[in-house]
Amino acid sequence: MTLDSTDLFGALFDRRVVPVLVPMPAPRPYSYAVPEGMAVEAGSIVQVPLGPRLVVGVVWDGLDDGTVDPTKLKEIEKVFDCPPLTRDMRAFLDWVASYTVTPPGLVARMALRAPTAFDPEPMVEALRLTERRPERMTSARERVLATASDGFSWTRSGLAHAAGVSSGVIDGLAAQGVFETVFMPPPPVVATPDPDFAAPRLEGPQKEAAADLLTAVEERKFSVSLIDGVTGSGKTEVYFEAVAATLRAGKQVLILLPEIALTASFLERFQDRFGAKPAEWHSDLAPRTREKVWRQVTTGQVRVVAGARSALFLPFEDLGLIIVDEEHDPAYKQEDRVFYNARDMAVVRGRIGGFPVVLVSATPSVESRVNGEVGRYRPIHLPTRFGDAALPQLGVVDMRRHPPERGGFLSPVLLNQVGKAIGRGEQALLFLNRRGYAPLTLCRVCGHRFQCPDCSSWLVEHRFRGQIQCHHCGYSERTPEACPECGTLDHLVACGPGVERIAEEVERHFPDARTIVLSSDLMGVKRLRLELEAIARGEADIVIGTQLVAKGHNFPMMTLVGIVDADLGLANGDPRAAERTFQLLSQVTGRAGRTGLKSLGLLQTYQPQHPVMQAIVSGDSDAFYDREIHERERAALPPFGRLASIIVSADARSDAEGHARALRNAAPRVDGISVLGPAEAPLALIRGRHRFRLLVHGRRNSDMQSFLKAMIAGGPKERGSISVQLDVDPQSFL
Ligand code: ADP
Ligand code: ZN
Repeated sequence: MTLDSTDLFGALFDRRVVPVLVPMPAPRPYSYAVPEGMAVEAGSIVQVPLGPRLVVGVVWDGLDDGTVDPTKLKEIEKVFDCPPLTRDMRAFLDWVASYTVTPPGLVARMALRAPTAFDPEPMVEALRLTERRPERMTSARERVLATASDGFSWTRSGLAHAAGVSSGVIDGLAAQGVFETVFMPPPPVVATPDPDFAAPRLEGPQKEAAADLLTAVEERKFSVSLIDGVTGSGKTEVYFEAVAATLRAGKQVLILLPEIALTASFLERFQDRFGAKPAEWHSDLAPRTREKVWRQVTTGQVRVVAGARSALFLPFEDLGLIIVDEEHDPAYKQEDRVFYNARDMAVVRGRIGGFPVVLVSATPSVESRVNGEVGRYRPIHLPTRFGDAALPQLGVVDMRRHPPERGGFLSPVLLNQVGKAIGRGEQALLFLNRRGYAPLTLCRVCGHRFQCPDCSSWLVEHRFRGQIQCHHCGYSERTPEACPECGTLDHLVACGPGVERIAEEVERHFPDARTIVLSSDLMGVKRLRLELEAIARGEADIVIGTQLVAKGHNFPMMTLVGIVDADLGLANGDPRAAERTFQLLSQVTGRAGRTGLKSLGLLQTYQPQHPVMQAIVSGDSDAFYDREIHERERAALPPFGRLASIIVSADARSDAEGHARALRNAAPRVDGISVLGPAEAPLALIRGRHRFRLLVHGRRNSDMQSFLKAMIAGGPKERGSISVQLDVDPQSFL
């Protein structure tokens, strides 16, 4: 066979033209020319011109077909000195893009969220002792010389600190040539965890659970385990064994947590077990730290990351295990730009990378529970609390029989128990998932209700701040003295309770107690961490909090948990309302009695017979799950069927509605898939945009993605202010 000139040109072109995925909503990578002498490979992170800008992109897979003339293309500007994205990572990003029906460039952008981390970290200036000695010796100088005589290089501040002198002393010595300047690699963001630092002695069912898990780790292939155990049963200790085994095997570990910014206690626990903290990854990291972590994850210097859902998109050098703690938590779902569920995508990443994934929860999602029952996941149970800690005794307070006093929200039964707990020197937690003072404010004279000008929602009064606020868009104004409608002074009434109002009621009843309100709008993350630590040390008697107190904190003296409104989450039309309420209430009541003290959880409810209340009080979660699973199966809801939402929004209501209708008409006819709507969304207006929803329902085996693509392709173009969002496996129906 001979090679003719076109083949030869084809081959040359192949080498000189590469597809580059740019962070744009384009359906596929763009072609770029590789300049003479530049070496790139699939996965290389590069800088390319895009219109008037330079953007960061990734050289993607797939050869050019050789038909493009490289001289007509823009050239790659630069290749960053940074490990290329691995083949597994590229396959993962492609998979997520296709599953969520999102342009791949937008998904890849999530892996590149550290703007200047792509170049190596600069070396750090350091000092090393020379042969020269100072002309005049002082005791401070002697200390410095003694400290630095270990032969190592020191940073200026490190040496000053170690020798107990001011940095002026060091500068003086350096000026006399006693030190020379050298450059060292930058220090790691975290020390290396030691798998054998402080291994616990596992007990009873923990041993068996850990052995099961280790089997999964040692197989070194893809599997999903579901650790299902009551709060305080030792789930964390058990999965730490899998972390240790993976570290020993030389692989990296990712631990996903729903709200990492708040879990200082988790980081400390990890340190107690492994002698070093994991690297953190979440949206509150300082930019410099963020860049260091990103960089050191790609080079393998960082061995363990504990992070929020976005950590799933970090380009690990050699990932070998993912733990998804609190796997049922709705915070794993991102509903912005790329709509994905980090729990589900973690499983995909494990499958592509051929390593085990461990899901952990005291109240697993119905989806995971079903996967466990049918054998897709390996179920691991931890039925009892560790040591002498007992689960709290749980009861309902029937609010019809024990109503609160006028203007109050706490029944005498609950107040009585609060008094007893603090009387014993213990702590009480009152939980209400509502920020602010009151969810609705109205004028007693004319009935005017304060509504957000840009959203279909009521303004929430925040009395501590003297504001009324929209919880959807953040709009706020000073709480007016007069009604803007009828002008009457001092006739505004607060309707319903928020945490601030409960605090007021508590202070009326227990004026001498130390009461604290914990709510995300009242303090930043740092302050919140400090408050949580103070509470754990016993520096508060009564804690009133929203759902951020539900997660992972360990309050040793907390022996009473009161749920102010257990019915709150049941009212909306969400198919997961019962499941969510069950999970949240179990989690909150699980805060009580972590240290062997007798404890109590009370649920204030107007529907004590509701299956959720019954399941929690009886402790029979199996019956609850059986019921939920049966209901889902009957209605072919996930995991027995598939759902996708299409949200159409526009500045004008008629545009949104018209576009949604047209999309519906463009839906292909496919057996087993049907489209419901369009209907005005329950949140019909957000930030001045009108919203309509379509719900696509399919059988379990239906090809939802192709259906959605066909619908969008067959529908009208998005013009003007119209925008269409696709949400595969929706969690929110608002
Ligand atoms: P979960 O994650 O299921 O809520 P944890 O792992 O947090 O449970 O365990 C609850 C408490 O019991 C923690 O303080 C933990 O350190 C302690 N604990 C659990 N198992 C052991 C063990 N085998 N040895 C010592 N302490 C343990
Ligand atoms: Zn608003």
